[in-house]
Amino acid sequence: MLYRVEGIVIRSMDYGEGNKIITLLTKTNGKLGVMVRGAKKVKSRHASLAQPFTYGEFVFFRNKGLGTLNHGEILESHHLLREQLDLSAYAAYLAEVTDKTLQEDESGELLFEQLKAGLMAMVEGKDPQIVSHLYEMRILEAAGYSPELEFCVGCSTDQGPFRLSPHSGGVLCPRCARNDAQAMAMSEGAYKLLRLFSRMDIRRLGTIQVKPETKKELKKMMRELMDVQIGIPLKSRSFLDQMDKYSFE
Ligand SMILES: [Zn+2]
Repeated sequence: MLYRVEGIVIRSMDYGEGNKIITLLTKTNGKLGVMVRGAKKVKSRHASLAQPFTYGEFVFFRNKGLGTLNHGEILESHHLLREQLDLSAYAAYLAEVTDKTLQEDESGELLFEQLKAGLMAMVEGKDPQIVSHLYEMRILEAAGYSPELEFCVGCSTDQGPFRLSPHSGGVLCPRCARNDAQAMAMSEGAYKLLRLFSRMDIRRLGTIQVKPETKKELKKMMRELMDVQIGIPLKSRSFLDQMDKYSFE
């Protein structure tokens, strides 16, 4: 069967002599793999289509399993995401977390739109860390693990100050937090942003200024939530962490 789908390259790996297998997150057909013959050859007209983060229209044959690219058209090459070190680290993280949490053929139109908007936001100069946190919230949501941030997970009160408890999947009031030694204290600013992220569509992200200490806090909280709720080892993380160390010192 011949498919024509909009998709984003979330993984690209070499295969055999001069070929590549790309993993696409598509708008209409979920996540799938497509073989791009000759993609490694310099003169290949498909070479740029097979690059990570490329957003394009892909036409391929597929019966079951792997498809074979027939032709395609680049809609956004997102070359900045491959050229700029910090952006490429974040883009790789977004792509990897998508690849690892979605099953083959699992529908993901919501994630497709969010990933597309997330990559675009980074190209447009929006804070890549903030974009990542928004996307992590969408991933948690897609996996059915949106954190409960308005009411205490233990007793349903709305009386804070709350602590974030990744293990309970949300916030805990002071009384309930006594039973969770790992519950994390939150500054007011970080808590506010966490709630904002939990319901915000990336397409609506404007420019927001977040203080470095709040960003550090957010990073720690989101990391815990992702580790406890999703718990998948991610290669792209070590790159992000190294970069962070470098920029904070
Ligand atoms: Zn409580």
